[in-house]
Amino acid sequence: MTLRDDSLAAPGAPGPRVGVLALQGDFREHARVLRELGAEVVLVRRAEDLDGIEGIVIPGGESTVMDKLSRAFGVAEPLKQRIAAGMPVYGTCAGLIMIADTLLDTIEGQQNLGGLDVVVRRNAFGSQNQSFETDLQVPALGDQPVHAVFIRGPVVESVGENATPLASLADGRVVAVEQGNLLGTSFHPEIQGDVRFHEYFLGKVRARVVAAVE
Ligand code: GLN
Repeated sequence: MTLRDDSLAAPGAPGPRVGVLALQGDFREHARVLRELGAEVVLVRRAEDLDGIEGIVIPGGESTVMDKLSRAFGVAEPLKQRIAAGMPVYGTCAGLIMIADTLLDTIEGQQNLGGLDVVVRRNAFGSQNQSFETDLQVPALGDQPVHAVFIRGPVVESVGENATPLASLADGRVVAVEQGNLLGTSFHPEIQGDVRFHEYFLGKVRARVVAAVE
């Protein structure tokens, strides 16, 4: 089922130009969802690909690899600067790890972009329960629960005073969070057919683009 609020998609107006970090992971799925929602998608692999984008999605994958590649390709530093300057970012799973301020269970030398005032633990669901699906209440997205797919996902171990939890598991562990223009989920809305998180992200992009024009 595809859930979609058409009021967020400005009829006739060109969608915002958003990037998807495309060094590793399931960037194609994000690109497909964002295009379906009317965005113009730029696959970001190098610093110059960041020019002219109004927001970026950092996909799921493997944060240790994404970290190394983003530094090797010279995209990590300019991306950090843009995050600090307020560019909207949506990180899913490994992407959430990339934008978290503090990481637990990293590998030696792992770095992050930071920005989101949370502590995130990698691979928090352990080896026996690496992948699972569950329905989550996400009040910011309406009454209908979000069917969430977790694939070796991280958990938000603590939420700093600047960030706000958006969804928790039944045991209280936080798995979705936002802070101004930053949005992060431990799970993968890009593969579950519910586009509300991407719409929510595009809402932040549109709001910022409008604010920049006025
Ligand atoms: N375990 C991965 C990591 O640490 C994240 C898994 C995912 O993105 N599906 O980066």
